[in-house]
Amino acid sequence: MKTKQCLVIGLGRFGTAVATTLYEMGHEVVAIDQNEDNVERVMNRVTHAAIVDATDERALRAIGAADFDVVVVAIGTDVQANILATMNAKSLGAPYVVTKAIDEMARRVLERIGADLVIRPEHDMGVRLARQIATPNIVDTLDLGGDYAIVEIEANERLRGTLRDLNLTGRFGVQIIAISRAGKVEVTPRAEDELRPHDKLVVIGTGHSLDELRRYLGE
Ligand code: ADP
Repeated sequence: MKTKQCLVIGLGRFGTAVATTLYEMGHEVVAIDQNEDNVERVMNRVTHAAIVDATDERALRAIGAADFDVVVVAIGTDVQANILATMNAKSLGAPYVVTKAIDEMARRVLERIGADLVIRPEHDMGVRLARQIATPNIVDTLDLGGDYAIVEIEANERLRGTLRDLNLTGRFGVQIIAISRAGKVEVTPRAEDELRPHDKLVVIGTGHSLDELRRYLGE
């Protein structure tokens, strides 16, 4: 897996979880916050931590915001700071900016100013939990013997694109045999079919290859 250069802005509960988890997974993580205590708290759990006000475009340029593969703006309650930080990162040329929105209105504004992905952690988790409760699995685990199994795996943002482009057989040695979306099941999907987050995938492979795929999805 390629090491990613990540910049996490805002080290509240959410930003800290994103920054330290990426670092634990072997990625390069620069974490910034305007609050000194928050920076000190994560100092030993990321590559580099610094006190920076992300609403200050020059300060963001100085830390090279444009050079990171991913910038995560994890400022929540201060909507104005969140919008300015997102705008600064995009106008400096950061290729992929993920931003946390506290409500639907903030989400719309953030999309308008160019955020590549806007998440609403509490809302999204609530939707996901409801789906999990409401939609029973198509299969649990079906052991086929000889180390082969069929399992159900939920797709997320990491599996965007057509099956051809995702090339899961080449990369992980697994095969998707069905896709369940909004209660409809598509069996024997074609190469041009696109996966979307929350799709339920029925996947066949060896125990090891299925574990690799799960790890890639962050499960
Ligand atoms: P959470 O709900 O994840 O704890 P918060 O919105 O409470 O999120 O925390 C956001 C973090 O972002 C805080 O640590 C705060 O100090 C930081 N923050 C707020 N404004 C800025 C800014 N302009 N630049 C850098 N960090 C900021």
